[in-house]
Amino acid sequence: MDYRDTPEEAAFRATLRGWLTENIPAGWDKVEDPEAAARLRRSWHRTLYQAGYVGMSWPVEYGGRGLSATYDAILNEEAGNLNAPPLPSVGYLGRAIFTYGSEEQKQQFLPSLLSGEVQWCQGFSEPEAGSDLASLRTTAKLDGDHYVVNGQKMWTSGGQYADWCMLLARTDPEVPKHKGISCFLVSMSEPGVTVRPIVIASGEAETCEVFWDEVRVPVAQRLGEPGEGWRIAMTTVAYERGPADIGFIATYRRTLAKVERMAAERGLLDRPETRKQLARAYVRGEVLRLNCVEQLAARVSGQQPGPEGSVAKLLWADAEQSLQHLAMDILGADELTGVESGWLSSYFTSRPVSVYGGSAQIQKNIIARMLGLPR
Ligand SMILES: Cc1cc2nc3c(=O)[nH]c(=O)nc-3n(C[C@H](O)[C@H](O)[C@H](O)COP(=O)(O)OP(=O)(O)OC[C@H]3O[C@@H](n4cnc5c(N)ncnc54)[C@H](O)[C@@H]3O)c2cc1C
Repeated sequence: MDYRDTPEEAAFRATLRGWLTENIPAGWDKVEDPEAAARLRRSWHRTLYQAGYVGMSWPVEYGGRGLSATYDAILNEEAGNLNAPPLPSVGYLGRAIFTYGSEEQKQQFLPSLLSGEVQWCQGFSEPEAGSDLASLRTTAKLDGDHYVVNGQKMWTSGGQYADWCMLLARTDPEVPKHKGISCFLVSMSEPGVTVRPIVIASGEAETCEVFWDEVRVPVAQRLGEPGEGWRIAMTTVAYERGPADIGFIATYRRTLAKVERMAAERGLLDRPETRKQLARAYVRGEVLRLNCVEQLAARVSGQQPGPEGSVAKLLWADAEQSLQHLAMDILGADELTGVESGWLSSYFTSRPVSVYGGSAQIQKNIIARMLGLPR
């Protein structure tokens, strides 16, 4: 396969690059106040949407442009190259809604998801159900034309800013655990929803505990059939783990260039260990890039994402964490004494990459099954 741009893709890339240069909010990565950062993310989402850059590969009838996934990848890549704010991640949630939703649900939820008018969070994990998600204990009991939800979710990213939640809850405790789960689309402003932000090691509260106490959810807001929650969750995470996003590579390369520059400034480029670590970091990035491109090619040719997304997730976590670790080695005390800043926070932000979206060990289990290795 030829991975170079077609003439149409090259023209799109050039227009996009011009648009990004004019529209990336100046100083966005210096905003420290979490509320201001959340407002900036929302407004960036709307700006991209108004320019037609959100959901380009979605079907036209749901507000997309019906383009191939290559265009989303070009956007990711150019946004990464030009240090744009993170792009809105509407793809996997949208995929679940347009695969399993009723026509009314698609009309109700997809346009506002795409435009950024409504922000979503993902309420899957619980205190005792992360890797073993199917053990979740939050219940949804049918009561007339409503379900009544009780339980606790954990690590709900962006829960404090979200308007709606895609929630998994047990609707049938009598059947095997994977079969008794259903999926719901629930407004976070329903009475009985309590959100408590969790501050992680980087000092940011990007994720939350969410308590669900007698929350009433109309039956019409169940996504898919009763008991179909597990299948929906697996579709969602397959797209989430997908060819990660190719923009990560561009951001990774920029960070690697900065780390190399810091090593040069400290006279470390002659040190064999540093040279070896920098070379390894480069190779890790290239291996991940080729893996992403291969998966993108499979996606463009119509294949659904499958367990191979676990390979990208594993490579991504390894590349990101190793690079941040190398930056710490090179900086020594300079970050603590204020010669450089921001690297410690990036280091801590890289730590949970091997946990969210499924831990590294779980990805290895999935890859082992894919390879047919003995259990
Ligand atoms: C920053 C952050 C954001 C997150 N955002 C969200 C979100 O928005 N929505 C959401 O629903 N969840 C979210 N999560 C939750 C995430 O998906 C879980 O943390 C993850 O699946 C691991 O579950 P756990 O934390 O319960 O750890 P556990 O499942 O308790 O695992 C603990 C350790 O045991 C290992 N382990 C467990 N089982 C096995 C096994 N079978 N084989 C080998 N090793 C195993 C794990 O790899 C891990 O090292 C987020 C997590 C973090 C840290």
